[in-house]
Order: sequence, then C-alpha cells, then structure tokens
Amino acid sequence: MARYTEATCRLCRREGCKLFLKGERCFTDKCAFERRSKAPGMHDNSRKKISEYGTQLREKQKTKRFYGVLEKQFRTTFEKADRMQGKTGENLLRLLELRMDNVVYRMGFAASRAQARQLVSHAHFTVNGKKANVPSMVLKVGDVVAVCDAGRKTHAFENLSGRPVPAWLTVDQEALKGTIALAPERADVDLADLKETLIVELYSK
Ligand code: SF4
Repeated sequence: MARYTEATCRLCRREGCKLFLKGERCFTDKCAFERRSKAPGMHDNSRKKISEYGTQLREKQKTKRFYGVLEKQFRTTFEKADRMQGKTGENLLRLLELRMDNVVYRMGFAASRAQARQLVSHAHFTVNGKKANVPSMVLKVGDVVAVCDAGRKTHAFENLSGRPVPAWLTVDQEALKGTIALAPERADVDLADLKETLIVELYSK
C-alpha cells in the first residue's frame, strides 16, 4: 500500500492551515504550524499572485492531504462522485468521510487518520462482524464497525482520545464499536474553508 512518508507538518505549512495529521500533538503548542506558519522553502512566496489553476490545485492538494489519500485514489474517488446523483463536490466529500480509515478516526478509535489507516490494515477491525482490513473501503449507513477480538488484546485502544464524535456516527467506546447512523452532510466536514467546487473545476478542465 503506497503512502506518504515525508515530514507531515510541512504539509500544513504548505497548505496554510492545520490539517491535524499528527494526533494529539496538533492540539498542543508543539504544533509546527502554530510556531511557524510560513510555507516551507527558502523563498518567501507570500506576495506572489496565485493563478486560478494554482488556487484549484492547492484546494485539491489540501483535501487529499487532509484525508491522507494519494493522487490516483483521489482521482478515482472523484470519478465515482461524478457518476453519482447530486453535487459532485459534496459527493466527493461524502465518499471521503465514509472511507473506513476516516470512520475509525472519527469514531475516536485512532489519534489520527494515519494511525487509523495502520490499525485498519493490521486487521484490528470488523465491519458487520466480518474482518475488514482495507482502509479505502467505503462504508454505508447502517454498517457497524468494531474492534476485533485480537485488537482488544492489544494496548492500542486503552487510552482513547475522547474527541467529540460527529452526529452521523454513534459510538459505544466501552464496547469499542460504532455505527454509521446517517450519511455525512457537507457541514460535517471539519476542514476549515474547504471549497470543493474548486476541485470540481480543476478536474473538469
Ligand atoms: Fe499540522 Fe498537526 Fe503538525 Fe500542527 S502538529 S503542523 S496541525 S500535523
């Protein structure tokens, strides 16, 4: 499984916002973006005018990095969203929210999406009672995600974050399981100032 292996805080500085890629550290004063929000690199590009294409590209990169999805998979997800009924941008965000790794993170069973992806690929979860180890799997309303018996014997779920759980999910932290109660809405996406229409424009060129 391909994954991004470079310095993650650099990505927040590049996108000019906090992407919350490092779990609890993101909420402390150790956050690199809080200390230095300037884009990485030697030259100060803050006064440079960004083209329309550049603005669309940055929005796509920001969203991709926030969800920890690489280009090919992001494009495939967009194409799927485009074939669905309704607004393509909102469909795209719904599909990203419903990814197995994102659901595990949003249920509070992992400190970050990257950790959620690792826990899923190490087969620590079941979906509707069946083993599920594909982080990109798209779940649906009614699916029940639970930590499997082997996962319960590890230390990975001893200190859960206690982050607020979004309204579209119901979680029983004692039982280490949760249900997708509703389809996530646009307002449920917690990435600040996201303009999904720019991504649609970029891919529609
Ligand atoms: Fe981004 Fe988190 Fe690093 Fe802060 S600590 S720069 S929010 S990844």
